[in-house]
Amino acid sequence: MERWIEGTVSESIHWTGNLFTLKIDAEVEKFTAGQFTSLALDIDGERIARPYSYLNSPNQRPLEFFFYTATDGILSNALVKLNPGDKVWVKSQSNGFFVLNEVPKCKNLWLLGTGTGVAPFFSILNTKEPWERFEKVILIHAVRTLADLRYQEVVHSIRQKHKDQFLFEAFVSRERAPGTSNGRIPKALADKTLETKLGVDLDPAHSHLMLCGNPAMVKDSSDVLKVRGFKKHRRRTPGHITTENYW
Ligand SMILES: Cc1cc2nc3c(=O)[nH]c(=O)nc-3n(C[C@H](O)[C@H](O)[C@H](O)COP(=O)(O)OP(=O)(O)OC[C@H]3O[C@@H](n4cnc5c(N)ncnc54)[C@H](O)[C@@H]3O)c2cc1C
Repeated sequence: MERWIEGTVSESIHWTGNLFTLKIDAEVEKFTAGQFTSLALDIDGERIARPYSYLNSPNQRPLEFFFYTATDGILSNALVKLNPGDKVWVKSQSNGFFVLNEVPKCKNLWLLGTGTGVAPFFSILNTKEPWERFEKVILIHAVRTLADLRYQEVVHSIRQKHKDQFLFEAFVSRERAPGTSNGRIPKALADKTLETKLGVDLDPAHSHLMLCGNPAMVKDSSDVLKVRGFKKHRRRTPGHITTENYW
């Protein structure tokens, strides 16, 4: 049975006009890195709930969530107004198959996220599993502007710990920013500029990709990858692409 518990906001960070983070204290049940829970607020007498990926890894506390304030979005525009001490409903059980247990054995793991879709990857990267299982772990974060490129301190700390095993590339679509790629992920997969830049071969023989966030990026990247011989991964028919659409 679905169980809501009352969480307390311990910190709220407003990164930009439409990106924010909430840290929440709540005693949720055990979850696996990459999974999501639901958050809810009672608005005009109705409980409004939406799914949100855990950004913290299972052994990190407080719980942490990275949000986009959707234009006219009911819940995100209410969550953005929360302050430390405010209450928020958190679903105790987590859900989802966007986890490493579902990824078949392979050499390199590619994690491709847009905007807040990078959250489950930080949860995964702050566990031991990827570093024990994969030769290289590549994180790609696509954003509109450089100001949207948050959590760089987490990227930096992962890089410090895992050196050559970890590669990171940011894509900024609406402006040119030093040290980042300009444009969109699907194009860089189609023309292979991403692999060339990183110096890592993206081949279905030894790679698995997890795609998360904007459904257009997920679809367009999957389409490009299918042409290159990659298949959607299913338990019964193992492949190379695992996806999580945020809307
Ligand atoms: C499995 C899963 C995990 C999710 N995890 C997160 C998360 O960690 N962080 C997060 O911000 N959202 C996440 N979402 C989206 C979230 O559940 C809500 O849809 C979002 O917060 C908007 O809710 P709303 O009530 O404000 O607006 P809604 O009326 O529900 O949505 C309005 C519109 O906003 C756009 N939108 C929704 N989410 C986003 C987004 N993240 N970035 C850009 N545009 C968006 C879509 O066009 C959508 O149709 C997740 C969704 C799923 C299915």
